[in-house]
Amino acid sequence: MIPLATPNLNGRESEYLQDCITSTFVSTVGQFVVDFETRIANLSGTSSAVVLCSGTTALHLAIEGLGIGEGDLVMVPSLTFIATANSVKHARADVWLMDVSVDDWMMDVVRARAAIIAKTDPHPKGRLHRASGKVLRAIMPVMIMGSVPDFDAFVALGKEFDLRIIVDAAAAIGTTRKDNVALGATGVDAVCYSFNGNKTVTCGGGGAVAAADPALIDTIKHLSSTGRVGANYDHDIVAYNYRMTNLQAAVGLAQLERLDSFLDSKQAIRDRYADMAAEFADLAPFPEPQHGRNGHWFSGVWYTGDRDDLDSAFQAHMKAAGVDLRPFWKPLHLQKPYIEALAESMQVTTDIWRRIFPLPCSTHIGQDDLNTVVAAAKAFWNKTSERK
Ligand SMILES: *Cc1c(COP(=O)(O)O)cnc(C)c1O
Repeated sequence: MIPLATPNLNGRESEYLQDCITSTFVSTVGQFVVDFETRIANLSGTSSAVVLCSGTTALHLAIEGLGIGEGDLVMVPSLTFIATANSVKHARADVWLMDVSVDDWMMDVVRARAAIIAKTDPHPKGRLHRASGKVLRAIMPVMIMGSVPDFDAFVALGKEFDLRIIVDAAAAIGTTRKDNVALGATGVDAVCYSFNGNKTVTCGGGGAVAAADPALIDTIKHLSSTGRVGANYDHDIVAYNYRMTNLQAAVGLAQLERLDSFLDSKQAIRDRYADMAAEFADLAPFPEPQHGRNGHWFSGVWYTGDRDDLDSAFQAHMKAAGVDLRPFWKPLHLQKPYIEALAESMQVTTDIWRRIFPLPCSTHIGQDDLNTVVAAAKAFWNKTSERK
């Protein structure tokens, strides 16, 4: 079975891991942690960054570090991995779910603004959501597939309503805004990454926060390391044990050495699937928004025709051809923990999520496997869609 995405570990990963073993620095203290944090900050255009044990904890501590919690709301798009919303709940705040734009599959900033105007009033800490009595404090754009959203529009929205902008860049390492501006230098409050096993850059598991304000990074470091003060067992808050280990950072650092080639591979895979989609009337490539350098973490095809029974048929066809094809993320407003969450109309999200088909996209996928995937997909769409 050709897998959806597997880690590419053919660089210096094993050498760096062996260093950890030899030096016995396998835990949360070590040079790889320090170096990895520096690299993440440099990549993000910020003076500092903090690495953590997952993308979920990175998002959670960015929210908590900005003073957001009980009684607060964070606006989140419904079309995302469930961790985006879970991180808000972990910080004891609640989500306000927003639809995405059909053009780029990311939070619809125009409708977000309209909803804020229609449903909230000014409040000293942000915007009072009249119906719930909760205070909207932040907006969390999600860089779906590693795509770059219109950062200027989100930053302007944050300024207009005094809201923090926390970016879920879980799958977007290495991307930049237009004019080559690094994500952390765009005016947003925090950029959060994941280094889970299927991401473009992996540590096995891990995450990071980069922020323009070094005080926020210090706060997150404090929150992530049991709130310890000084060298002894003194702690000044109830905090967490969310740190990354030197072992994880060793892998991450080796991965980052090949970031450019990883991104080039992702772009080439994306282009191949886009060429295939272009042959059919009912298929489109995944969006390629023009706001900067996109990451193309996942790519594949998007069915734009009328039939609503094709997802399981396409999955079964591809599985039979030896290609792993799974349903895409079920949106948050349809998930049991979030069915009752505050939500705007979800027309676009509800319509598109079953039509999104991520295809295998490991950075080290071979031409033979790519040919197999494309041939299998074409065989299906030749029967189901009209050729252009
Ligand atoms: C992967 C991912 C996360 C969560 O990261 P973990 O490291 O798995 O906790 C959050 N949001 C999005 C959009 C993701 O793709």
